Amino acid sequence: MTARPLRPVAPPGHPLALLLGGLPHAAWLARLEDRRIVAANAEAARWFAGEGATPEALLGCAADAVAASPEDLAWWLGASHGDRSPLYSDTLVGTRDGRTRPVSRSIRVVELPLHEGAPAEPLVLVTVQDRSAEVALQGQREELLAELQGTLEATADGIVVTDLAGRLRVFNRRFAELFELPEALLSQGDDAALRDALVSRLAQPAADARRLLAPVPEGVGSERFELQGGRILERVARPLLQDGRGNGSVWSFRDLTERLASAQRIETLSRTDPLTGLANRGSLAEHVRRLLEAPPEPGRGAGRAEPGTTSLSLLVVDLDRFGYINDTLGHEVGNEVLLDVARRIQSCLRKGDLLARVGGDQFAIVVSPADTAFAEKLAARVLAEVKKPCTVGDATFTLTCSIGVALAPSHGREADPLMRRAEQAMRAVKDAGRGNWRLHQARTEVDWRSHMKLDHAMRQALVSNRFRLNYQPQVSLETGAITGAEALLRWRDPEMGEVPPGRFIKVAEDSGFIVQLGEWVLRTAVGQAARWHAQGRGLPVAVNVSALQFQQNHFVERVAESIEMAGIPPRLLELELTESILLHDEGGEMLKRLEALARLGVQMSIDDFGTGYSSLAYLKRIPVSKLKIDRAFIAGLPDDDGNAAIVRAILQMARALGKTVIAEGVESEAQRQFLQDSGCDEFQGWLYAPALDVLSFEQRLPILADPSPTPHRRRSPRIRLVSG
Ligand code: C2E
Ligand code: CA
Ligand code: CA
Repeated sequence: MTARPLRPVAPPGHPLALLLGGLPHAAWLARLEDRRIVAANAEAARWFAGEGATPEALLGCAADAVAASPEDLAWWLGASHGDRSPLYSDTLVGTRDGRTRPVSRSIRVVELPLHEGAPAEPLVLVTVQDRSAEVALQGQREELLAELQGTLEATADGIVVTDLAGRLRVFNRRFAELFELPEALLSQGDDAALRDALVSRLAQPAADARRLLAPVPEGVGSERFELQGGRILERVARPLLQDGRGNGSVWSFRDLTERLASAQRIETLSRTDPLTGLANRGSLAEHVRRLLEAPPEPGRGAGRAEPGTTSLSLLVVDLDRFGYINDTLGHEVGNEVLLDVARRIQSCLRKGDLLARVGGDQFAIVVSPADTAFAEKLAARVLAEVKKPCTVGDATFTLTCSIGVALAPSHGREADPLMRRAEQAMRAVKDAGRGNWRLHQARTEVDWRSHMKLDHAMRQALVSNRFRLNYQPQVSLETGAITGAEALLRWRDPEMGEVPPGRFIKVAEDSGFIVQLGEWVLRTAVGQAARWHAQGRGLPVAVNVSALQFQQNHFVERVAESIEMAGIPPRLLELELTESILLHDEGGEMLKRLEALARLGVQMSIDDFGTGYSSLAYLKRIPVSKLKIDRAFIAGLPDDDGNAAIVRAILQMARALGKTVIAEGVESEAQRQFLQDSGCDEFQGWLYAPALDVLSFEQRLPILADPSPTPHRRRSPRIRLVSG
């Protein structure tokens, strides 16, 4: 800074010095003519002449060197050309302490006399106001704002702030997106246009417009709005407080559409069967409950209900031997079949009837109103529809189902008991040979009496030795030789005549008498095996064992005793067990029992194989050497593709596990031929012989070529190929 000494024109006490001293900012006066400073105040001295300097230090200095921003220099240049217009601007100036300060600086020309009595002349008044503090504060504010904006934009919610009058002050991008606000509106700040745009997005503008941005009383919870196109927004409002006083509202909008949709999906899933999309057991129960609670519909159908109740039929439809299709043809085929069956059943129903899938291969139908006659017609229709040949891939087979029917209100007024009764009736159909329908029947007194009478008669028959065993030959498919005999119980009652086992075994199982009866069968059959053995015919005898009998604690001992007493090699006894024996084998007790029997050396087979749900993994574990394919699978051979595929699959599986297979219920040569061609080991059936009394059986026996102990058990070489 060049400061040529100049006579001080405005020493302290001079009116101009006094004038400048009264200003709150650094200020000085300079002559326009030569730019020399003629007066300055203390603040100016402190800034531009250094700490502790007095205003005199600045006198005579060049004004454009004291504050020398480019703008200042430009002003002085302009002034030298006669431009005296003032300059006000924010700029930066360097001060004596080496800092650069943000300042508001003004330069203007004033006409004042330099000395008392002198004429007024143009002087340049420069004031410099320090803005450091202000600028620092503004920086902080801007930083804070940027942070706030960042936070706003980072939230997944649309946020808008309104003032007390309800004007939209700020909103974030997400808010604009949610309401699809046009880009042009975003920066415009046109409150009315913004509001119009928001309202125009509402699905129900008439109902929701007022609610949307009305000032909220404190503590208002969330509200929902539906937009056009179906999106659902949830809005939460909070008062905006400033210094403890309400100053507006902060609204956040959240898009609930996805969440609601997935909640809906979960709801749907929990109520439907994923494979068929039909109702599941839970929603069926719900449907029944609603129907039974609802007042009856007077106009509809064949209701014959009590006044004030709705009549309803519940049909449980269970596919016969489906588990088998699944296991042998694979789950994909199984699923196709189920979908096909669902379609068929559906085709029998009216609008308003409910079809549900309540188990793997079990469906249920609810029709209302409906009486017995109606249910009967429907059941017959479903049976016929399901029985039509079904083709999946390149396999064609026929499937049957068993149907149980329960009626409301006569069989129950709630879903649970109705379902139980319909299932009971369905199981009764299965026991009686499947492929039919039956109405639930409460066990009447008459039923009980005949049941008890039969039980009593059986006990008498055992004491009076009226039971006998017939033997059905089991024949090798390869050699045609008899390889064994199945003992089948026969009973002739003096009054009732010949009672079929299909009838009395069930009663004996119900009453528990089967345990005693079964022990008699075991002793008798083992005795017969011993007689044949003594005659040099080592012919194994197969004995049917009921689940209840097998579950007796002493069963294994009884078997061991009877073999020992008869003195036969244990392999001459075969126990025919059903899959149900192992169905609920918690703790593995039954498996242990099987192992004990195997150690004993007796043979074991699975009877009625294919009607239960034996899994491959399970079959591997149990020490059973033989599978008896259920009669039902043999019946349609060789034309029924489904049964043929199942039988082949069983044979393949058995081969892999090293088990022997016998087919029962073989009635025709074509069946026998198919079995032989497919590699089955043995067969049993009317084609060869029915169950025969001992005498008749023995008349057949001489055809055995070689009565040595083992030829009958000789395995087909085909089975030998693979061992488990
Ligand atoms: P199961 O063990 O499946 O016995 C085979 C049934 O099929 C026998 O009926 C037999 O006479 C019959 N059968 C044999 N060959 C043919 C054929 O070619 N075609 C047809 N359609 N059927 C044939 P059965 O003797 O009336 O016995 C019925 C059921 O009673 C048996 O079925 C078995 O579960 C039970 N049972 C028979 N005897 C006893 C026994 O001593 N103890 C136990 N616990 N149950 C027995
Ligand atoms: Ca059997
Ligand atoms: Ca059987």
